[in-house]
Amino acid sequence: MIGIEKVSKWYGEFKVLTDCTTSVARGEVVVVCGPSGSGKSTLIKCVNALEPFQEGQITVDGTRVKDRGTNLPKLRARVGMVFQHFELFPHLSITDNLTIAQRKVLGRSGEDAKKRGLDLLERVGLSAHAKKFPGQLSGGQQQRVAIARALAMNPVVMLFDEPTSALDPEMVGEVLDVMVELARDGMTMMVVTHEMGFARKVADRVIFMDRGEIVEDAAKEDFFGQPRSERAQQFLSKIL
Ligand code: ATP
Ligand code: MG
Repeated sequence: MIGIEKVSKWYGEFKVLTDCTTSVARGEVVVVCGPSGSGKSTLIKCVNALEPFQEGQITVDGTRVKDRGTNLPKLRARVGMVFQHFELFPHLSITDNLTIAQRKVLGRSGEDAKKRGLDLLERVGLSAHAKKFPGQLSGGQQQRVAIARALAMNPVVMLFDEPTSALDPEMVGEVLDVMVELARDGMTMMVVTHEMGFARKVADRVIFMDRGEIVEDAAKEDFFGQPRSERAQQFLSKIL
């Protein structure tokens, strides 16, 4: 579903990604972890072309991200993305947040978009809040709306970048529960997170990054059992 092949990226003189190669198969859940500044966000942003990269190639569902012929808005519509800071539109109701891209990007009718949006709102347990505005919801609730909004576009893959790290601890669980359910439903997911409980529960593989490199790319059991590299061992000993 996602193929990342020998991707290198520079910010000016600074090499932020070095020769990153990995893949995410259909239905697979891959957790990306590693120290701050190791390039996790940069790598995930390259997947839906929010960041350009100079070398290598990324394909999403057969489409080359870095290809002059690629229709980037169309590609991005198929890749759901959820960030650390739930970027809901503050001036729009929850329903409008859920429907605007469906109507504007996918051309769905208002009625169809609303039906899809409200179905997903129910799925994340927030049916009662459709008429509210983002500012009237808790952080955890807003993040669940952000997930529903991404799902409303029928993405082929979902990317998450530390979706729970800005939340108060008591709200982390409700967001992770939605993600666990999504994983169990077979969604293809690439998730930057330090929530190792989540990784243990649903990840198929764990990628560990350090200084722009993929240092470890292993089945969950192997990663938690005995990470091969000393850097990953050190990292795990600090966060577990
Ligand atoms: P964190 O865990 O703190 O979110 P990360 O692993 O997601 O870290 P990135 O945000 O991908 O790390 O950043 C990787 C490196 O690239 C860092 O050294 C960062 O300072 C640098 N960097 C990120 N964005 C830019 C930018 N726009 N211009 C220059 N350098 C950048
Ligand atoms: Mg980051």
